[in-house]
Amino acid sequence: MDRFQDLCERLHQKEYKLTPQRKIILRALLNGDDAHLSAEDLYGIVKQQNPEIGLATVYRTLELLAEIDVLQKIDFGDGRLRYELASEEAHHHHHLICTRCGKVLEFEDDLLDSLEQAIQCRNQFRILDHQLKFFGVCKECQIE
Ligand SMILES: [Zn+2]
Ligand SMILES: [Zn+2]
Ligand SMILES: [Zn+2]
Repeated sequence: MDRFQDLCERLHQKEYKLTPQRKIILRALLNGDDAHLSAEDLYGIVKQQNPEIGLATVYRTLELLAEIDVLQKIDFGDGRLRYELASEEAHHHHHLICTRCGKVLEFEDDLLDSLEQAIQCRNQFRILDHQLKFFGVCKECQIE
């Protein structure tokens, strides 16, 4: 089963209809790969070939996909929510955000296991997940 079929199946399990619009939006998300798209970004992509799809539909579909955990919502602090496909594994990656050009890079290594363990021991707080964002200046912007 490819990724698209897998996502369709998940919608189906939650008893959501797979409308043509939803299919188009899902495809665009998959083609965007690991991009961190806002609703406006995605709307810009889908309307090129499907001008009948409105921004409101894109918003609603993204919200729905986030509700059933197909997408993860991320706030990079620039006033626009971004969406990315949630990975199958429990844990994903962390984000490096350039405050000059707004580029978002991914940082694959998870170095937080020992920190989580220390927190769990000291505070008796059972950690289920974490999010981490680093703000700074990317390589390209450092040259300028
Ligand atoms: Zn930059
Ligand atoms: Zn990401
Ligand atoms: Zn992590």
